Amino acid sequence: MSTYVTANPTTGVTDREFPGLDDNDVATVAERSLAAYQDWRTTEASERAAMLARTADLYEKRADELAAVITTEMGKPAKEAAGEVQLAADIYRWYAEHGPDLLETEALDPQGAEASIVQVAPIGPLVGVMPWNYPYYQVARFVAPNLLAGNTVILKHASICAASSALMAEILHDAGVPADVYINVYASSDQIADLLAHKAIRGVSLTGSEKAGAAVAKVAAENLKKSVLELGGSDPFILLDSDDMERTTKIAARARLSNAGQACNSPKRFIVLDDLYDDFVDGVVKQFESTAVGDPADESTQMGPLSSLSARDTVAEQVDTAVTQGATLRTGGKPVQRDGAFFEPTVLTDITPEMDAYSEEIFGPVAMIYKVASAEDAVALANDVEFGLSGSVWSGDIDSAEKVADRLEVGMAYVNEHGTTLPGLPFGGVKRSGYGRELGRWGMGEFVNTKLRRTA
Ligand code: NAP
Repeated sequence: MSTYVTANPTTGVTDREFPGLDDNDVATVAERSLAAYQDWRTTEASERAAMLARTADLYEKRADELAAVITTEMGKPAKEAAGEVQLAADIYRWYAEHGPDLLETEALDPQGAEASIVQVAPIGPLVGVMPWNYPYYQVARFVAPNLLAGNTVILKHASICAASSALMAEILHDAGVPADVYINVYASSDQIADLLAHKAIRGVSLTGSEKAGAAVAKVAAENLKKSVLELGGSDPFILLDSDDMERTTKIAARARLSNAGQACNSPKRFIVLDDLYDDFVDGVVKQFESTAVGDPADESTQMGPLSSLSARDTVAEQVDTAVTQGATLRTGGKPVQRDGAFFEPTVLTDITPEMDAYSEEIFGPVAMIYKVASAEDAVALANDVEFGLSGSVWSGDIDSAEKVADRLEVGMAYVNEHGTTLPGLPFGGVKRSGYGRELGRWGMGEFVNTKLRRTA
């Protein structure tokens, strides 16, 4: 049995303990989920949609409480936390409104028979393994389409999200989702492996690191279960021209420092044409140095702590290594001198392919800025990593920017914006950023049985 221990990253003080799942209960959880599935799958899609709509309403009604929990739990600034709660509500509402149509049976050309139709059927109990960086959003984008499709869910959140995950379960149950249709577990990695091996479980979706993704996908594959992986990224932000460098650097800085830089699809590598490079570096340094870093509960704070002291130490180590290997530190570079998991907004330049920072994801408030001679070189550099989550191209010349965006090896390519996520747009990556898609109709297609019924 593993206990989940949570600490407030603003103070660094351990505050609560949550008793974990007992090893003897792992099989029981899978069996409860399967038993609930037998009834849940027979309910009308409109009934399930009504529960998701009520979930959205409850998220809005309890928004302040939900936001405060993640601000305490993982240090998200109050304004960003409020935005995330609303986004989660929007996802539940989107699937409540559009989900039933996505489950409609499709009539095909009969092709020699009386009828050939394709039905969209659920596949059974699923396991979700989620990270701490967007506690409500990550869960919503997995749970909403799958409950609507008629699958049941066992959710293992990051250990530091013990409080927010309990609250999410409470809200879904209050909205009418039966207790065993959505089960929140405080499980260890070994228990997740045992769950995936259980014959009741039909699939798993993990959002998190490559290491966790590979471990879970391996067990899923050994047991012939479907997996979806949303993993890390080192997204490029390619600047081809700018008629307002102050605005451009402000956008770049806000995008990089949002959530203290802990977003999978944050722009982590800024790739800038050489005639813009000096102004861009100066502008980003200025923006970083004027960012209000402090208590995330304070409305005026722009950047809070990292999610934990160990997350802060990992970023500090990555920055130290980059500098030791020859990168230039333009600003920041160390933990803030105060309690808690704060790290200075940091700018690194002169990174070369031999350095670890060139190919690693830095999950914190660190911008790496590269100088290139041409758009051609920008594309080559952007694609020269093993990640492929998202990327953006910035220019007043939309045609040229779109041509560059088309050449990025990513799951999501943007022109003149970065990282927009909306309920109806697909989200996911290629290469080592994972496989499968969430959100929109694509998220609904991952864990369903596209079932042919043909009548001769
Ligand atoms: P993490 O350590 O991989 O944790 C993610 C989840 O996986 C947590 O619930 C964790 O549980 C669990 N886990 C870890 N090892 C496991 C194993 N062997 N078996 C089963 N479960 C396991 O990731 P993180 O550090 O929290 O999150 C940061 C990473 O997530 C970054 O790389 C980021 O880019 C990525 N991310 C990707 C997306 C996307 O959509 N592509 C979105 C957000 C984040 P414990 O907490 O109990 O260890």
